[in-house]
Amino acid sequence: MVTPPLISLFSPVTELKGVGPKMAENLEKLDIEKVQDLLFHLPLRYQDRTQFYEIGAVSHGQEVMVIGEVEHSEIVYRGRRMMICTISDGTGLLTLRFFHFSNAQQKALTRGTKVRCFGEVRIGKTSREMVHPEYKILTNSDSQNTQSGLAKALTPIYPATKGLQQRSLLRLAQAALSHLNGLEDLIPQQIVADNHLYDLNHALQALHQPVAGVSVAQLLARNHPAQQRLIFEELLAHQLSLRKLREQQKQANGIPFNTKSTYFNRLKDNLPFDLTNAQNRVIEEIDEDLQQTWPMSRLVQGDVGSGKTLVAAAAALTAIEAGYQVALMAPTEILSEQHFKNFTDWLSPLGLNVTLLSGKLKVAEKREALAATENGTSHLIIGTHALFQNDVNFQRLGLIIVDEQHRFGVHQRLSLREKGKTQTQQEDIYPHQLVMTATPIPRTLAMTTYADMDYSVIDELPPGRTPIKTVVISNSRRDEIVQRIDVVCNEGAQVYWVCTLIEESETLQAQNAEETTELLQQALPDLKIGLVHGRMKSAEKEAIMAEFKSGKLHLLVATTVIEVGVDVPNATLMIIENAERLGLAQLHQLRGRVGRGSKASSCVLMYQTPLSDNARKRLEALRNSNDGFEIARIDLEIRGPGEVFGTRQTGELQFRIANLMEDQMLLPKVQQAAKQMLEQYPENIESLIERWIKHAEDYASV
Ligand code: ADP
Ligand code: MG
Repeated sequence: MVTPPLISLFSPVTELKGVGPKMAENLEKLDIEKVQDLLFHLPLRYQDRTQFYEIGAVSHGQEVMVIGEVEHSEIVYRGRRMMICTISDGTGLLTLRFFHFSNAQQKALTRGTKVRCFGEVRIGKTSREMVHPEYKILTNSDSQNTQSGLAKALTPIYPATKGLQQRSLLRLAQAALSHLNGLEDLIPQQIVADNHLYDLNHALQALHQPVAGVSVAQLLARNHPAQQRLIFEELLAHQLSLRKLREQQKQANGIPFNTKSTYFNRLKDNLPFDLTNAQNRVIEEIDEDLQQTWPMSRLVQGDVGSGKTLVAAAAALTAIEAGYQVALMAPTEILSEQHFKNFTDWLSPLGLNVTLLSGKLKVAEKREALAATENGTSHLIIGTHALFQNDVNFQRLGLIIVDEQHRFGVHQRLSLREKGKTQTQQEDIYPHQLVMTATPIPRTLAMTTYADMDYSVIDELPPGRTPIKTVVISNSRRDEIVQRIDVVCNEGAQVYWVCTLIEESETLQAQNAEETTELLQQALPDLKIGLVHGRMKSAEKEAIMAEFKSGKLHLLVATTVIEVGVDVPNATLMIIENAERLGLAQLHQLRGRVGRGSKASSCVLMYQTPLSDNARKRLEALRNSNDGFEIARIDLEIRGPGEVFGTRQTGELQFRIANLMEDQMLLPKVQQAAKQMLEQYPENIESLIERWIKHAEDYASV
């Protein structure tokens, strides 16, 4: 007799019965390779097949099992052919609706037949129904056995993939459960006890095989202690992987800058204002980092208008004074042009050279810019992500500044750092990295998503700004708004009109903005109106912007290109057309173009009906708050962290069971536990990360 191979949790899934190469391939798509992985492939939700419900007592959307007798059955045509069958259990009537059915099926469902159905109940105005329920016609003996067809436990529903059925996933999970005894709890007993966590085996057993009687509602709400235990564990694994990453970064070689801030002091002397306390504090925090022998990795958050650019300038000047070059990366061409202008104004009086590496440069200009970057005559090089293309070589890159960080994920952060490294014969030397974001993130979330970085907040706006009054108005009141523009301009102030168009096409956007300009000009013949859009050459755009800035134009019609980088304190009114099309963060950014001077400003969010629920919430949030932190919190609530942080694109922060928004209250405890593990129980950390994050090693080795 051949003894079957001993299967352990670390055996490949192919050793389980019924797992062939094809299934193994499908399982791999779900990151399931070893038997243990099946245990951590957790159910998304549950079905309750443990009891029969009374038809009269079910509510809309509930997935239930019912038993009833066929009252009536027929084929009807309502747009398409369908079979309708009404059943009753004495407490109520339920309509079963089938679009696909055979003659045999139809014949079997005759009046008086007993059926057991499982499906989602929809309750309309006049009826309750199930569309395509699973059903079984009951025989006499079925009917006599009241337990027949009932499951003993709730049925887990797993995240699946094409070609892999729930039934297989369920069977495999149950098979894996029989090896549960070999599973090691990687969270130290002390931490389990301190946080009142369920024991791991107990939790997994409860989730894969919940006993009858456990509350479906509790499981659905993810409140069950078994779920809480695994959510905690998953958040802990993520926290640890980011903390490890940070530790590794601190082991790397950086360039300590020791300077006297001569340049920056001269820049400050030239400014018409004093820095805010918050700016000074953050600049000090950065300077401290820049003196270390490891590369800085710091995130600076600050609301629109909090003055992040000067903080970046301070860091840049420290690097330049130490004899290094600085790369400043912006997300768009227009923002990099704006930075180029600001930094040239600030740095040329100090005798320093600033270079713009724009995609729009002519061949000769580009060659010159590349040469200045390579031979070191340029001190600060500004551009979009094109800055890190292969043809760009820095002579002595010491600092990378990334503006508007929320568009970059951890992978991009790391690969930038890698591209900026200098290889000497003995070692690799990494540049410092400073990332700036205007998307304020609630503190606990920031500490979770950016745990691989240090972070600073500019939590103060420069003095003298008056809050912007925001109103939300339907498109039908356009004429009133146009009259308002007239009044504002006659009082000597200036106005922005922002056209939004959902199409990505710059041509269509430009066309739309041109038409709007014409209409506004007809309605307001006495006003001087300018237009900027993405199709214009940057020289043209700059010329129009300059006219607007100097007050020669009353009204500036623009596409969302003015989202960033425009600074005209005399502009006190902004109208955003079809504001419902834009996201909260973008609207908040746009609105930040007014309210920059001492006069009171307002922003009109004009919408097209009908408004979706989410759009209404967004517009209300803006009307009610000028505070970027509050707006970020609401944005998270409406959209979820995945979208807010752009994780959909980058693939980071994908959780199996945790949900950053819903599980926020666990974060402080998780952070505490992570700290404890790093200090007292480092031996389990690697395995814990590996258990939950399949590609964690990619983070570390980019
Ligand atoms: P953001 O944080 O949105 O990038 P900016 O750096 O563009 O903000 O600054 C917004 C405006 O505030 C600019 O016109 C800038 O010159 C000005 N500013 C920055 N710091 C101060 C300050 N301490 N006092 C007054 N104005 C300031
Ligand atoms: Mg900025």
